[in-house]
Amino acid sequence: MFSFFSCFLLLSLFSSPSNIHARKPPVYMTLNPNNINSSAVKNWHDFVKFQDATKGSLVNGISKLKNYFNKFGYLDAQNITHFTDIYDSNLELAISKYQEKMGLPVTQKLDSRTLSELMSPRCGVPDPPKPPHTTKDYVYFTGRPRWNRNIPMRLTYAFSPQNMITSLSMEDIKGAFKRAFSHWASVIPVTFVESDDYGFADIKIGFYYGDHGDGEAFDGVLGILAHAFTPESGRFHLDAAETWAVDFAAEKADTAVDLESVATHEIGHLMGLAHTDIKEAVMYPSLKPRERKVELKIDDIKGVQSLYGSNPNFRFGSFAESDMSSNGAFDWRVGGERLIRVKWMMVFVVWFCM
Ligand SMILES: [Zn+2]
Ligand SMILES: [Zn+2]
Repeated sequence: MFSFFSCFLLLSLFSSPSNIHARKPPVYMTLNPNNINSSAVKNWHDFVKFQDATKGSLVNGISKLKNYFNKFGYLDAQNITHFTDIYDSNLELAISKYQEKMGLPVTQKLDSRTLSELMSPRCGVPDPPKPPHTTKDYVYFTGRPRWNRNIPMRLTYAFSPQNMITSLSMEDIKGAFKRAFSHWASVIPVTFVESDDYGFADIKIGFYYGDHGDGEAFDGVLGILAHAFTPESGRFHLDAAETWAVDFAAEKADTAVDLESVATHEIGHLMGLAHTDIKEAVMYPSLKPRERKVELKIDDIKGVQSLYGSNPNFRFGSFAESDMSSNGAFDWRVGGERLIRVKWMMVFVVWFCM
């Protein structure tokens, strides 16, 4: 016989929070800028002084924020070479576009969450707007470029003989890149093979300081971490000024950046993926210092597989369950279904106990 207590136990069991997926709380930047000697970090950290600035006012230095938005694709200002410090309607529009793209609440204001994201280190590749009338989150570059070779495809990669870093061993660097390529190779019918022939390799990897001749200068510690070019360019550049790490237990710096995470992200660009607005996906534009993000999410996988097809050995089934708890797009849908199921169970138990 069911007692009130056993009904309560059943209700507690079915409505336990562990049955319901929840979004992870946002991670905010915890870096102390006073410990860092870098113009890039200090430049972006200056943005904190714009908190709650209001439209129509003169805000000293806000032209730097306009430059940021112009660089990353949020301010339509092709013919403007010099921005003013007036907080104008174009800036307000750029803020709302940025908030939408980054999955932030669209307040159209420089609130603390928006500024925290703006100050985070990120990829140097601009963020394309989401195409209209689509429910997909993954995005391609204009013209949907991809490597145009027969499937299964073989691509070679090589490291620049001149432009490498010495703070990590070549063995550690090569290991991080090998793992990064393998994440993508496991989901698409493409194999990546290291080559010693830098001149003829499909993908050319190098670490560079500042202005390195492609019009996309690096900016010192943090700020922009790396950039890569669309297919079939194969150019893959990393900022040599970063404290690149392959093991955070060995590299204690506040500013350490995980090499495998950045490499995995940039390989997505090399294959034809642009930036997504799913925060948990590898193709999201920013990465916090000391953060590791190497596992492809469903958004990344669906995006790259619609360009190249699936690796015949890849199965979504076993993968999807672990991804659903951390992939924003799937999170709510699955969470919603589970929530409905839990509610039905509760109705059933209450009815049964009566
Ligand atoms: Zn990127
Ligand atoms: Zn470059």
